[in-house]
Amino acid sequence: MKQLKSILLVATALLVTVSLNAKPKIRIIATGGTIAGVSTTSASSAYTAGQVGIQTLLDAVPQILNLADISGEQLVNIGSQDMNDEVWLKLSKRVNELLNKEGYDGVVITHGTDTMEETAYFLNLTVKSDKPVILAGSMRPSNAISADGPANLYNAVAAAVSPNCKGMGVLCCMNNQLLDAKTVIKTHTIDCDTFEGGPSGIIGYVYNGEAHLLQSPINRHTKNSVFDVSKLEELPKVGIVYGYANASPLPMKAFVDAKFDGIVLAGVGDGNFYKDVFEVAVEAQKEGIQIVRSSRCPTGPTCLNSEVDDEKYHFVAALDLNPQKARVLLMLALTKTRDWQEIQKFFMEY
Ligand code: GLU
Repeated sequence: MKQLKSILLVATALLVTVSLNAKPKIRIIATGGTIAGVSTTSASSAYTAGQVGIQTLLDAVPQILNLADISGEQLVNIGSQDMNDEVWLKLSKRVNELLNKEGYDGVVITHGTDTMEETAYFLNLTVKSDKPVILAGSMRPSNAISADGPANLYNAVAAAVSPNCKGMGVLCCMNNQLLDAKTVIKTHTIDCDTFEGGPSGIIGYVYNGEAHLLQSPINRHTKNSVFDVSKLEELPKVGIVYGYANASPLPMKAFVDAKFDGIVLAGVGDGNFYKDVFEVAVEAQKEGIQIVRSSRCPTGPTCLNSEVDDEKYHFVAALDLNPQKARVLLMLALTKTRDWQEIQKFFMEY
C-alpha cells in the first residue's frame, strides 16, 4: 500500500512537472500570400504569391519550436487579392474549432498583405475566443534577399504564446509591430514598413521574442461580438463604389441591378457623393439596399449627419471604418437586421 502511494506521488509530481514545462499549443494556418511567394531571382520584384507550402514556411524558422508546440495546416494557397467570403467563413469556423474544441492556446494565420486588414477585421468580429489570433505576412517573397517573412512569423508565434495578447482581439504582426484588427491599414504598396494603426497607432510590438502591449482596443470584438457565422454558408452581398470628381453612377446602378444587399460608398471627403451617384443611392436605400457612407480619405471619421442628412435618407455613416472594413461590418450586420438604425448602432459599437 505504502509502495503504491509513493508510486502515485511520483507519477503526480512527474505529471505536474511535465504540464508546467509544456509549451503552449499553437496552430499555424497557412493561406498563401507573399510570405509563401517565390520570385524569379532573389533580387527581382516580379514574383508569384502563394507558391510554397506550410512546411517550407516552418522550416525557414526552426526557432519557433523553442517558443511553442507548433503544428500547421494549409487552408488555401492564394495571393490575398483572391481572398473571398467563402474562405473567410471557412477560416473563421476553423479558428473557432481549434480554440474552442481542439484545445489550442493560440492561432497564427499566414496571409497576403493586400487584404490582411479585412480578414483580420472579419475574424475580430466572428471568432468566439479571447485566446490570441495573430495574422502575419511579408512584403518580400520567401526566396528574396532579406525576406521579412521568417522574422514576422517568429514574432507572430511569440505574440500568440504571450498572455499579453489574450483578450486583445485579432492582431496583425508585421515589421516587429502589433496592430489591432479594427485600425490596421496597409499604407504602402511595396515597403516592409507598410502597416499602420491610423491615428491610434500601433497596439504593441514584439522585441526579442516577447510581445509588449501599449494599449488595448476599445471596440467590441471576438467574445463580445454578437456576430456568429457558425451556421452560415454565405454572406450578404455588399459592394464598394469609389467616389471621384464627375463620378459615373454606373457602378452603383450595377450593384442595384444585381440586387446587392448593401453598398458602401468610398466617398470624397467626409463620405460625400457626386450628385448623380447620390440620386441612385437614395433610390437604392428606398428599395431596401443599405447604403453606408465611408471615405476615400486615408484618415479621419465619416461623421453621421454631416454634409449628408443620414437621418433623412436612412444612410449609415461608417465612422472610423475605411470602405473595405465597412463592407465587412455591413455584411455581418445584414445577417442580423435590415433596420438602418440598428446597423448604425453596430457601426458605433464595433
Ligand atoms: N498580392 C500579394 C498578397 O496579398 C502581395 C502582398 C503580400 O502578400 O505582401 O498576397
